[in-house]
Amino acid sequence: MADRRIIVVGAGITGLAAAHRLLTDNPDTDVVVLEACASPGGLIRTSPFAGLPVDEAADSFLVRVPWALDLCTELGLDDELVAPHARAASVWLDGIHRPLPSPNVLGIPLDPNSVEKGLLPTEDIERLAGAGLPDSPLAGGDLSVGQVVRSCAGDAVFERLVDVLLGGVNAGRADDLSCEVMAPQLLAAARSPEGLLAALRSLHAQADPSAPVFNAHPSGMGHLVDTLVGRLGNRLRLHSPVTGLERNDAGWLVGTTGGVELADAVVLAVPAFVAADLLGPIQAEAAEHLAQVPYASVSLAAFAFQRNDLDVTGDQSGFLVPRDAGLFMTACSYAGSKWAHLGTGDRVLLRVSAGRNDDFRHAGMDDDTLQRALAGDLAVTLGVEAPPDAVRVSRWPRSLPQFAPGHADRMAAIDDRLAEAAPGLRVTGAFRHGVGIPACIRSGTEAAAAVVHTV
Ligand SMILES: Cc1cc2nc3c(=O)[nH]c(=O)nc-3n(C[C@H](O)[C@H](O)[C@H](O)COP(=O)(O)OP(=O)(O)OC[C@H]3O[C@@H](n4cnc5c(N)ncnc54)[C@H](O)[C@@H]3O)c2cc1C
Repeated sequence: MADRRIIVVGAGITGLAAAHRLLTDNPDTDVVVLEACASPGGLIRTSPFAGLPVDEAADSFLVRVPWALDLCTELGLDDELVAPHARAASVWLDGIHRPLPSPNVLGIPLDPNSVEKGLLPTEDIERLAGAGLPDSPLAGGDLSVGQVVRSCAGDAVFERLVDVLLGGVNAGRADDLSCEVMAPQLLAAARSPEGLLAALRSLHAQADPSAPVFNAHPSGMGHLVDTLVGRLGNRLRLHSPVTGLERNDAGWLVGTTGGVELADAVVLAVPAFVAADLLGPIQAEAAEHLAQVPYASVSLAAFAFQRNDLDVTGDQSGFLVPRDAGLFMTACSYAGSKWAHLGTGDRVLLRVSAGRNDDFRHAGMDDDTLQRALAGDLAVTLGVEAPPDAVRVSRWPRSLPQFAPGHADRMAAIDDRLAEAAPGLRVTGAFRHGVGIPACIRSGTEAAAAVVHTV
């Protein structure tokens, strides 16, 4: 007989990580996961394309932070993980592919000699030889990535490199993104007495240069979802959208389209705007903070070209496109060069993205129009004029939360309000610590630990 019942709402990677932690650490707890859709995984989906398991969104995860790698190790998947085959990337600037300087940290070049002619103005390259002290003392608390990098490394480094890389991660504008959430290591380095560049160089000197930055699973990121789901068994209920939440003396009443479920505690692992609606009647201030988290919508198209029509250099993993480049696409990953398991002899596989927090053109296009627009950009950037053998378009509306400076404080305020008004309820997801899979796993894991302590 279970000693308590905890419901997790949402079977994206955050909810699955929370459920896994609850089950593993608390075998006497009855855990139920309620998922609105017909399949689990949320924004993680792998499906066959050109005969290969090609991810429709996330295809890999950062291994320089622990949470995803630790979970894979716990699940026995670590030996199966693979590192990218090709690692060099470029930025489409001034109508050409300009290689990203190496080494760099989030686009900030650590060695001025690695900066190719024409990438940055001479005075900015000269500045990169210095310590990277801010133009004027940095204010306390959270700052935007733009404030930090512009002040310590100059506008050109920010606009031509950092904004393209970091803004690309969540389809946002790095001038408006919290440095504390998006790049805490930059904030710490910028505030160190030695200066941003000197601190980054010291950190880099201690790192293993051969260690991969990302890992993937050869069956796609869906394999991580499948493994977690396999451990849940019939505790996962699909087609079960949660429509209301209420608390009474017996505990939490979780309303679904199929009836009401009773729980001692609830982990809400849904997008912030869904959590806001559910929390509205329970704690208006927390709901308001959640409702104010903006989301960007993106689309991702997979293309397969005949190698005779397009050949990309084997050591290149792809390129990024700045928002002012006049193109429609935002990035192109050479999936078949980057990942050995997606390499095919006769075809070249690309994954091409569109959409930003302030660029909604893709959302208004049907699939044919969208793929034509992207193919047009591929003709400009890669010179491929021949039609692709196959194209697959995946839509991800309101998928990438945007973290304005001060975000962590607002999340802490939500936790405080809920601790008083809604004991046993925790809201979590990609909107908390960052959109990356490791950050989501961390968020789910922390939420699981937090609710267990309340019941
Ligand atoms: C195109 C794209 C590419 C990406 N690439 C990468 C990458 O390469 N590496 C990386 O680390 N990250 C990547 N990300 C980010 C990462 O995939 C996501 O941030 C992460 O998967 C979000 O997980 P989540 O569980 O927080 O949210 P979601 O995946 O959105 O899961 C929330 C779940 O809640 C369910 N739900 C919603 N409402 C209800 C309700 N009322 N009742 C019950 N269930 C409900 C949803 O159906 C969904 O299953 C990418 C994202 C996108 C969009």
